Amino acid sequence: MTARIIDGKTISADLRGKVTDAVHRLRRDRGVVPGIAVVLVGDNPASEVYVRNKSKAVAESGMRALDRKLPATTSEADLLALIAELNADEKVNGILVQLPLPKQIDAQKVIAALNPAKDVDGFHPLNAGRLAIGQPALVPCTPLGCVLLAKTVHSSLVGMEAVVVGRSNIVGKPVAQLLLAENATVTICHSKTRDLPEVCRRADLLIAAIGNPEFVRGHWLKPGVTVIDVGINRVPGAGGKEGQKSRIVGDVAFVEASAVAAAITPVPGGVGPMTIACLLLNTLQATCAQNGFSAPQFA
Ligand code: NDP
Repeated sequence: MTARIIDGKTISADLRGKVTDAVHRLRRDRGVVPGIAVVLVGDNPASEVYVRNKSKAVAESGMRALDRKLPATTSEADLLALIAELNADEKVNGILVQLPLPKQIDAQKVIAALNPAKDVDGFHPLNAGRLAIGQPALVPCTPLGCVLLAKTVHSSLVGMEAVVVGRSNIVGKPVAQLLLAENATVTICHSKTRDLPEVCRRADLLIAAIGNPEFVRGHWLKPGVTVIDVGINRVPGAGGKEGQKSRIVGDVAFVEASAVAAAITPVPGGVGPMTIACLLLNTLQATCAQNGFSAPQFA
């Protein structure tokens, strides 16, 4: 079997197009322009790239991007003061605090200080709790992207055996909750799971969010499985220093897995582009909720 490639670039472009249309309608019909504040503390180069990409995507969607860049020496109190200001600002519908934060700042304290209605990353404990008890919530972007990708292959996930490898608060746990909400039968695995290959072999849908390059092997998979690979791992290119440049690989051994799976996300070009598209979707939904409008249903 040669797996069908789940093309996250095309699927995310389609979602972003729908969000952009909805943003234009909001502006035209209601005079409302969604605004998102992107807060970056310090000068971590990877974070700077992520923030630049997010701000660009926000602007392309017709939303207003407010970039707030603070020095690496910013105190926790100063960041909390900025969060309070953004919480109170009516033009700000979504607040995104780029992680990681410098070590003098407690990230959990900052997340807990966000107005949950503006928490477009879906990390606030209230949103995490609502997701866990099946109430409407702003849900984390990468997990939402994973489920939307899976639903491009299976219109219904009801009754499917879904195995999630990884239990982080930002990917593994929320993706498991979302799959449960879709009525899949969900197994969550982690570093203490006994006989991981055997558990993976049960999966009709496998989500890998581990952070270990090409860790899930082809012979761990049931023929016909759908694989969603969240991992982003930079590995040296062939031939070391003199050879090719480093490259990005996922948590799944792609070539092996493609020979067994029916559908698989590539890395890059799978889950990654969906994360930003879902951030825009969350901001649109947050804006509608804050204004008492019903949110457009297209995802
Ligand atoms: P974390 O490090 O927070 O969590 C990794 C999880 O994998 C943990 O639950 C850990 O188990 C589990 N794990 C580690 N080793 C093993 C093992 N040998 N067997 C089974 N389980 C194992 O990572 P994240 O969830 O933040 O990210 C996971 C991957 O997804 C990374 O590559 C990251 O770069 C990528 N990512 C991609 C995004 C995107 O937009 N595409 C967004 C966010 C992340 P335990 O809890 O027991 O330690």
